[in-house]
Amino acid sequence: MLICAATGNAGKLKELRRILEAQGHQVKSQKELGITCEPEETGTTFAENARIKAQTISALAGLPTVADDSGLEVDALGGAPGVYSARYCGRHGDDEANNDKLLAELADVPEGQRAARFVSAVCLWMPDGRDLVVTGDCPGRVIFERRGTNGFGYDPLFVPDGVGLPDGTTRPNSEGLTYAELADEQKDAISHRGHALARLQQALPEFLAGCESV
Ligand code: IMP
Repeated sequence: MLICAATGNAGKLKELRRILEAQGHQVKSQKELGITCEPEETGTTFAENARIKAQTISALAGLPTVADDSGLEVDALGGAPGVYSARYCGRHGDDEANNDKLLAELADVPEGQRAARFVSAVCLWMPDGRDLVVTGDCPGRVIFERRGTNGFGYDPLFVPDGVGLPDGTTRPNSEGLTYAELADEQKDAISHRGHALARLQQALPEFLAGCESV
């Protein structure tokens, strides 16, 4: 299926594209379709924001559109930054400043109390107005300093509990590798976004059977 990816975040687009293409879809970014609009994320949940983004961009693209809303929930911070992950430092999309703020907020939190999880809600919005929302998460912890250069956002500070293997299974992350130290396939197999998109793919046949146009 030809799908529009509703995001202006280059790191997120890269992941959406590679996972959806590996599932056999064709992906056009909203930018490739000439859509510069960045819908305001006025929801209070990941699912609400994913629906807002997918619906708005689908109306402009005229295509089935996927949007991901995601973030990091840290137990010691009562679930923050959560839906505000992209703008934790007060500005939208400043990864370095967001990471600095996260480290500062957790400065006095000892090893063993730094549990966190990444959460993703993905919405597929169809031109006929139907939509499908799926979620995925990835448990782990936040470390004390950045490690690794792959990926985006909080990747250098997040150590997932598991690591993906080439056969699609997972193993414990005994080396304590961060998201930013994982190869693409290792991250996709265990990541919040990878899990959400795998669920989307699973649910797709039944969902599409009830849609007017694909
Ligand atoms: P939004 O979904 O566009 O509101 O932004 C999600 C924000 O959460 C991003 O800007 C990142 O800061 C963070 N985030 C979401 N997914 C990831 C990921 O896979 N790695 C690192 N940071 C992420």
